[in-house]
Amino acid sequence: MKVIVADSCGFCPGVKNAISVAEKILGDEKNVYCLGPIIHNKDVVDHLAQMGLKTVDSIEDIESGTVLIRSHGVSPEIIKKLRQKGLKIVDATCVLVKRVQKIASEFSHQGYQVVIIGDADHPEVQAVYGCAKGAIVVADEKDLHKIPENSKLGIVCQTTKGPELFNRMVAAIAGHGFAELHVVNTLCRETVKRQQSAIDICKKVDVMFVLGGLQSANTRTLATLCKKYNDQTFHLQNFSECAKSMIFGREIVGITAGASTPDWIIEDFIKNLQSFDSGSNVDKTADKSA
Ligand code: SF4
Repeated sequence: MKVIVADSCGFCPGVKNAISVAEKILGDEKNVYCLGPIIHNKDVVDHLAQMGLKTVDSIEDIESGTVLIRSHGVSPEIIKKLRQKGLKIVDATCVLVKRVQKIASEFSHQGYQVVIIGDADHPEVQAVYGCAKGAIVVADEKDLHKIPENSKLGIVCQTTKGPELFNRMVAAIAGHGFAELHVVNTLCRETVKRQQSAIDICKKVDVMFVLGGLQSANTRTLATLCKKYNDQTFHLQNFSECAKSMIFGREIVGITAGASTPDWIIEDFIKNLQSFDSGSNVDKTADKSA
């Protein structure tokens, strides 16, 4: 069995930074909270919980202490409420997400109707929405009716979406009618690299595994993309979810992982493939086509 691992996969810089910031403050302080899971990976959340990180759903659940802002960021309104409560804020918002927030806010101040291409229920999108008064979120063409005709539009996109959706939606919005259109490509380059690397691999393998949390938006996008090019694609959280039938008789296996998937999940998956395939050697190759 030959295993090809995507050159770009696993933790992205924004996630790495949020985790290292969390580990640092947990070493120094007690009463550290995170609004929502720090990343969409249960093992990492559990590991940080053991170190003392308390994950809560709302500000009301926090009495005192320090609040860690995860890489998705939060709206200015939330920051204001945290300050009003006298809580210490440690901001680990990814710089690329901060950039989207800044662009949306500037558009709004310049009189543009802000349009965010993305999922309305995603925390990053909610935070960007909170930076631009009256912003409109469009997930796909079905949402175009929300955009007022002949308006001056300022368009940004959820960082973890793919170029295909972004290009398609910009064209659809342009076709919908506008007075002025200002589009900024706010896609995360790391995400785009991961997507391209995954597409390249899944075209040449018998089976493709996309590893990562089921709630992780970027992992789900990776899985949907891979499925498009290889119908033998499986989105798994770890090797315990891998049925023998998924790998039995396969000669070339591809692996990629979302931005919130730790390296050890990928390494463990490869090790288990090795044990399964003990009759022959697993040839682990890093894909260089990305
Ligand atoms: S996926 Fe990109 S934008 Fe999102 S946290 Fe990671 S580096 Fe930042």
